[in-house]
Amino acid sequence: MKKVAVIGAGLAGSEASYKIAQAGFKVSLFEMRPNKLTPAHKTPYFAEIVCSNSFGSFDQYSASGLLKKEMEMLDSLLLKVAYKYKVPAGQALAIDREKFSKEITEILENHPNIKIYREEVKNLPDADIIIIATGPLTSEDLSLQIQKLTGSEYLYFYDAIAPVVDAETVDYSKGFWADRYSKGTGDYFNCVLTEEEYEIFYNELLKGEQVPLKDFERAVYFEGCLPIEEMARRGKETLLYGPMKPVGLIDPNTGKRPFAVVQLRKENIEGSLLSLVGFQTKLKYNEQKRIFRLIPALKDAEFVKLGSIHRNTFIQSQKVLLPTLQLKSNLNILFAGQITGVEGYMPSAATGIIAGINAVKLLKNENPIILPKTTMIGGLINYITTAKNELQPMGANFALLPELDKKIKNKEERKKAKAQRAIQDMEDFIKQNLIDTLQ
Ligand code: FAD
Repeated sequence: MKKVAVIGAGLAGSEASYKIAQAGFKVSLFEMRPNKLTPAHKTPYFAEIVCSNSFGSFDQYSASGLLKKEMEMLDSLLLKVAYKYKVPAGQALAIDREKFSKEITEILENHPNIKIYREEVKNLPDADIIIIATGPLTSEDLSLQIQKLTGSEYLYFYDAIAPVVDAETVDYSKGFWADRYSKGTGDYFNCVLTEEEYEIFYNELLKGEQVPLKDFERAVYFEGCLPIEEMARRGKETLLYGPMKPVGLIDPNTGKRPFAVVQLRKENIEGSLLSLVGFQTKLKYNEQKRIFRLIPALKDAEFVKLGSIHRNTFIQSQKVLLPTLQLKSNLNILFAGQITGVEGYMPSAATGIIAGINAVKLLKNENPIILPKTTMIGGLINYITTAKNELQPMGANFALLPELDKKIKNKEERKKAKAQRAIQDMEDFIKQNLIDTLQ
């Protein structure tokens, strides 16, 4: 019988192991806690929730609600247990974290097909199929092994994330498309600021409230990744020579060089997501929205992702993974969870489900699945495996899903229609491909 190993009993590893075990295959699950804790985990329990106890909205027409709906359709273990231990939190699914993780641990420990090893994996175990799901705080020795598998340039140890906006919500009359010195194909949208507008923006940036750094995140600053507000503190001109420099750009509306610009760059092939180039930040989320909306082109922008700087181990999946979550250079190794470049509890768990299903497919000598891009889980995996530039970790959002066949003007109606299409496509996909895997 083929040997299967899952490394890491976090959110993704728990889902993956359960899927494999439920399909009737034996699986070895390796977890280093409690012998060795990460800087964020505190308990010996599997699927530990390290921070907020919320899994986001219930509403299936919201991005996180749709993600959960699809996970339910794929028979998610975590969601089943989460509903059992939910606590009142309005429209959000919040849980009693201890009862939740304790029960997941008991289910996996008592499963006849799962053998648990409480040890830190330093070298890949002897197995025919391996799922690596060691999360944002993967231990150092294993990180070195992963670097060997992926190439060291494709494993990142922190993310310095710039905010990302929904391209449909940018005011394109307040800037122009152009690359510096007219090189390239005009892929950047330059949001223009006059001297007065810059002054207001700059002063608010200095006043913006920041998120305090955790001890294990401090090292990031030594790696030359400065938040935009720190750059601003070095002087009023610094940004004008840095990410907001206007050199090599002529505004076709005035025929002149703008005083300052903020460049927006396409984050995905479809161009539905645009990131603010060089705007990595530790400002609090509500402060980011307030301050970045002072940029005239972004006055009504919808932020699908806000900036942050975190300790986060993740691979550049667009270089090294297939959309089946298999490693391109070794199809018997799969990655799942936040280490793939998705972000947050539920997106991580969702990729665990898919890695588990695909391990089962490989065990049965069947083709691994690729979910339709029109579903939220399929859209997320499509994003991480095809990102246009450097992969910036991503959570669920509607801009990941392809446009609808017919145009719908109202934003809420458009999201609803995308969600309805996703649920229908997931239902069809399950009927055609997964009936005997999801039992
Ligand atoms: P994890 O849940 O981290 O699981 C990985 C597991 O692998 C861990 O149990 C770890 O002990 C184990 N492991 C690591 N290395 C080894 C090894 N070598 N051998 C054996 N086992 C190993 N997300 C949200 O949605 N909301 C939040 O509020 C939030 N806050 C966060 C705060 C912090 C400080 C951090 C670090 C993350 C936060 N996240 C939050 C992100 C969230 O924790 C992750 O998205 C999610 O836990 C990822 O799931 P995972 O299964 O990929 O990794």
